[in-house]
Amino acid sequence: MPRLLLVSNRLPVTVKAEKDHVSVVRSPGGLATGLSRPHERSGGVWIGWPGDVSRLSAAQRTQVESQLSALRCVPLYLSASEVSRFYEGYSNRVLWPLCHYLLDRIPRQDRDWEAYAKVNERFAELAASHYQPGDTIWVHDYQLMLVPGLLRKRLPEARIGYFHHIPFPSSEIFRTLPHREDLLRGLLGADLVGFHTPSYAHHFSSSLLRLLGLETDLDNVTYEGRTVRVGGFPMGIDAEAFEKVSQEPGVLEELRVLKERSAGQRLLVGIDRLDYTKGIPRRMLALQRVLERQPALRGRLRLIQVAVPSRTQVEDYAAYRDKVDELVGRINGMYGTVHNVPIHYLYRSFNEKQLAGLYRAADVMLVTPVRDGMNLVAKEFCACRPDEDGVLILSEFAGAASELRDALIVNPYDVEAMADAIEEALRMPVDTRRRRMRTLRAQVKSRDVHWWVGSFLDTLQGMPTPSIRKG
Ligand code: UDP
Repeated sequence: MPRLLLVSNRLPVTVKAEKDHVSVVRSPGGLATGLSRPHERSGGVWIGWPGDVSRLSAAQRTQVESQLSALRCVPLYLSASEVSRFYEGYSNRVLWPLCHYLLDRIPRQDRDWEAYAKVNERFAELAASHYQPGDTIWVHDYQLMLVPGLLRKRLPEARIGYFHHIPFPSSEIFRTLPHREDLLRGLLGADLVGFHTPSYAHHFSSSLLRLLGLETDLDNVTYEGRTVRVGGFPMGIDAEAFEKVSQEPGVLEELRVLKERSAGQRLLVGIDRLDYTKGIPRRMLALQRVLERQPALRGRLRLIQVAVPSRTQVEDYAAYRDKVDELVGRINGMYGTVHNVPIHYLYRSFNEKQLAGLYRAADVMLVTPVRDGMNLVAKEFCACRPDEDGVLILSEFAGAASELRDALIVNPYDVEAMADAIEEALRMPVDTRRRRMRTLRAQVKSRDVHWWVGSFLDTLQGMPTPSIRKG
């Protein structure tokens, strides 16, 4: 197995500081889990930002570095201004809304491009300094779109892959970006450019054609004498681990308590970062419509909505939080009683076990983003239902909808239709629920995160070797 150099904005670790002692622990996220095996087995390193360590003393920094090096992680430190301009500025204020089709959220004047380009240079420089001939380099996500091109200049013979974890928008949207060509050329430095769905790959190819005049033929495009392959690789989850957690005694006990306390009520569950792409307000309006239309359901329906605090330094997120807070208050004010309220709103994050309890308790899981690259919550819900029950309502604008066809697929912009889907889910007979959930689970289990890593790396490593390519 060739050595794997992984490059992502964040390292898959969290640095925890307590007085004199600091510890570096692996993050539980899907990407970290999926890549940990090839990372360890191949003997390569993972390059990325370890998070804000500016408050650490010099001695604590040394401790962090030695712990990172034991995990074969190489830190790239970002200054406060880089975090604000490269990460929050260009990545999260420009590229994030652009790729989610939300052009009106992009600042009118983009002042952070230079910082973005500079930090991409720093990542490329550091990755190149760790490169050994024969290595495979895998760059991740929209914060680092220039890195493949910058690496290609330094390492013409290297095998480089790039994966885009968010949607790639239609070329009509992408072309609004002043630096559209630089970003496309950046991605074309890779040998393989991967997306969650064939339709994102198709959008990328049409941007190449419209903006650079490059034609894609059977997923291949020729650029500067090299072949670049473009493809869809839907990311999965660690389905086995989620299923296991969902059967732990503690989780089952939590489930029992939750069910007991909601006796006589049907439970709807939503679990999202508090992000304007997740469609939380429209989902709540759909619930409101159900309660308006069906007086008999009042007092008998409860939505548990987890909203994980996210990007709190970006103004749009604060405004979005206010909007959600207000809507929760309004709906609860209208349909609550002295005994209960229709929306149980939790602004905090939960661990895997707590989430598994909620997934298991849900009669209906609501995953209704207005746009989402994949959405792993939808897959985690299915993995956590070995009882083969529960109905998934899934937005057609989530990448997961291209695989999970047995969900109730909805258009999140159509509140009335979402209300219909909630009613349909609540009425669905048990045998239909089981049949659908069985198919969903089979899909989630067979295309898990290990399958995803394997299929991307097999494709990348199966491409012509640099020496053949040269000839
Ligand atoms: N998650 C979590 N704690 C929470 C809520 C969510 O750890 O309280 C995790 C969840 O299990 C999932 C991830 O956050 O793995 C969210 O991934 P998804 O693809 O659904 O959305 P993203 O946040 O990446 O846009």
